[in-house]
Amino acid sequence: MTAFTAEHLLFTPAQPRADAVPLIFAFPNEYSVGITSLGYQVVWATLAIREDLQVSRLFTDIHEPLPTHPELVGFSFSWELDYVNVFSLLESLDIPLCSADRSEHHPLIFGGGPVLTANPEPFADFFDLVLLGDGENLLDQFIDAYQQVRQADRSTQLRHLAQVPGVYVPSLYHVTYAAPDGEIQAIAPVDEHIPAQVQKQTYRGNTLSASTVVTEKAAWESIYMVEVVRSCPEMCRFCLASYLTLPFRPANLVGSLIPAIDRGLQVTNRLGLLGASVTQHPEFEALLDHLNQPQYDEVRLSLSSVRTNTVTEKLAQTLTKHDTRSITIAVESGSERLRRVINKKLENDQIIQAGIHAKAGGLSALKLYGMAGIPSEQPEDLEQTVAMLKALKKSGSRSPAHLRMQYLCAESTHPFSVVWRESSGRKTAEVSAKAVRAARHRLSPGEL
Ligand code: SF4
Repeated sequence: MTAFTAEHLLFTPAQPRADAVPLIFAFPNEYSVGITSLGYQVVWATLAIREDLQVSRLFTDIHEPLPTHPELVGFSFSWELDYVNVFSLLESLDIPLCSADRSEHHPLIFGGGPVLTANPEPFADFFDLVLLGDGENLLDQFIDAYQQVRQADRSTQLRHLAQVPGVYVPSLYHVTYAAPDGEIQAIAPVDEHIPAQVQKQTYRGNTLSASTVVTEKAAWESIYMVEVVRSCPEMCRFCLASYLTLPFRPANLVGSLIPAIDRGLQVTNRLGLLGASVTQHPEFEALLDHLNQPQYDEVRLSLSSVRTNTVTEKLAQTLTKHDTRSITIAVESGSERLRRVINKKLENDQIIQAGIHAKAGGLSALKLYGMAGIPSEQPEDLEQTVAMLKALKKSGSRSPAHLRMQYLCAESTHPFSVVWRESSGRKTAEVSAKAVRAARHRLSPGEL
């Protein structure tokens, strides 16, 4: 059985018309990674239900039968480090990497997803079109607009597509930099017929995304995913997940979330609740009550990381009952001062309390995310992280804990990107790396 035949589809692909546009929709990583991306799944289904498109999927390891002359090639771009795979895939299709080197017989290369929406400029030379923001309405508007100029020359197509709100055509803008390795000074359209500003698109509905395919070949085997919330109201100053997709939107519980869950559980018993901060859904308690009903007893439940002070005993019990052994909380730092700097509204006592609740609810492990290299960070701040871990152990509150620390590398979009740049963030991270190594030596193996 191939990866594609192992798929259980939760939508009905259209039968393409004879004159359908041949389109390749790529994910710049392996199939198991790409098919686990909810964004990729949803965009693929949105394209595949159109009878005016003939969609073929392309991953770095496998692909569906590809058209000889695709007209459109799209990329779902979720992680920066996948950019090299964008190049590999373009090369495998015999398409020039730079937009400027493409001619009339080449397809239009478009991309979307969090990486490009957060900051398209580093990739602007390689994409003919970038779709900024939520895809719910944008994608269909983009395809509709392409159909209107399908027979036109490439330049006319690009100029027409640039009129679609949310579609950025880099070649139609002049970008001026303060220095070759400096900041952008200005972005101006090439003429008055091109919009001066491209408006990132924001979907305002309260029906959020849900898996369109379930497969045992996914990185999270046979998982059905539902998006519980989009964005996060906490707005920690470093958090792309919050700022990139503002405003905070919860899925309608009764009208869309529960029906979506029930649809997916007809084909699998593994459920993933996704979102930047799922426990902040205003009806999260009611969702837990719903999932605690006997008909869901066999469901294996996974949650993306949760806000520390929303870890309740009931949540831990629900996860335990549904075959989850651990919970992940993002504490960022043991230093209360640093948490104030990053606008993380969290006290050390609440971290201890989360550990108590996790253990009381039966979870056997607690995972903590931390950050180093935060502007203004001092070695004492890292010492306080060590102290916090020791306090967590001393409280007897927790089961084995794992702290995973990453260095802050500020992306554009959120306020900390400016602070990070001005405080020589890279240097801070290097100094922090030494301090983290030193701090780690003061923890015995049992303390992490
Ligand atoms: S609570 Fe978590 S998801 Fe929300 S803004 Fe802060 S870091 Fe981001």
